[in-house]
Amino acid sequence: MRSVVWDKALLAYDLGETHPFNPVRLALTIKLATELGVLEDVELLVPGAAGEDELLRVHAKGYLDAVRDAPGLGADLAHGLGTDDNPVFPDMHEASSLVVGGTLLAAKQIASGAAERAVNIAGGLHHAMPDRASGFCVYNDCAIAISWLLDNGFDRIAYLDTDVHHGDGVQAAFYGDPRVLTISLHQHPRTLWPGTGYARELGAGKGNGYAVNLPLPPGTQDPAWLRAWHAVVPSLLEQFEPQLIVSQCGVDSHAEDPLADLSLSVDGHAAIYRNVRELARRYAGGKWLAIGGGGYQLVRVVPRSWTHLLATVLDRDIPGDTAIPEGWRDFVGGLAPRIELPKAMSDRTDTDFLAWGGDVSDPTDASILATRRAVFPLHGLEPDDPRD
Ligand SMILES: [Zn+2]
Repeated sequence: MRSVVWDKALLAYDLGETHPFNPVRLALTIKLATELGVLEDVELLVPGAAGEDELLRVHAKGYLDAVRDAPGLGADLAHGLGTDDNPVFPDMHEASSLVVGGTLLAAKQIASGAAERAVNIAGGLHHAMPDRASGFCVYNDCAIAISWLLDNGFDRIAYLDTDVHHGDGVQAAFYGDPRVLTISLHQHPRTLWPGTGYARELGAGKGNGYAVNLPLPPGTQDPAWLRAWHAVVPSLLEQFEPQLIVSQCGVDSHAEDPLADLSLSVDGHAAIYRNVRELARRYAGGKWLAIGGGGYQLVRVVPRSWTHLLATVLDRDIPGDTAIPEGWRDFVGGLAPRIELPKAMSDRTDTDFLAWGGDVSDPTDASILATRRAVFPLHGLEPDDPRD
């Protein structure tokens, strides 16, 4: 069984018309997936808002009160509310709690055995901190769901973050906790907000070795990204033996994304999702909780990439040469007449990659080796041996 969480009410997480985090990307994704038949016969699970007890797993009471009060009181900079990144918006507590409720519902589907995989494309707000909003994120649905899972039968959870930005909020939530292995691949912190996610950030105390960071140079394309992923992730999962994989599937790593400078394609994104599914099969008993994340090319990128995500979760993989349905193109063309709409589910890029061979021939290889040397010995793995 696979579960898809979706309800139009999730569109209320709306930071304003001129803000890059525009919920239209979700609506356009669901429309595209529907027109391609990906969601045929799939019952969409409608979430309720997370309760205060659930939000308190990660967030401070004072922060929840601040979010609740902000629409009436205005900016509260001490809690990160009312900045350009995190504007105050109507019903922000309710809308943010609903996003958390969506990811919790997906987690509960897996924990109860009702589903082996579940997905909430509206989630993935990985930057939110215990007492402040950050990076467009009010409440950290990823960390809250992981915290809930830890209390409901799971002792080892792998969190894989493929957003272009470092998954700092989730890393911080479990920095001292060896039950949660966080692995983030992202654009190098010297070149992109939030400026964290160096290989040397490894976790603290008992959690030492359970935070893994692989920063990548601006311009990194699919083959180098996938080479880095495969050089680090499978070996660590094999050692860690997770009972569940949680993946944050931000698609702002795309070449056309306006906020960042990696150069992946929707084909690369589809390859990542299919590999996460395979890794879940191989190392986590098939259990995979997929959540959304960043992605700011609202029309040409997010709908296609996350339609691939939905299809992958549902085992309804879409060939890249599949045409974009005319109904979707007509609808979106009316909304955004000046944007050249994609014609197919592929960017026609080549995602074949050479496996890392232990050598350092370019900056990506140097990053791979730095991360392996920082973390592999803590898991009994040999960093310089490509067989590990
Ligand atoms: Zn991002």
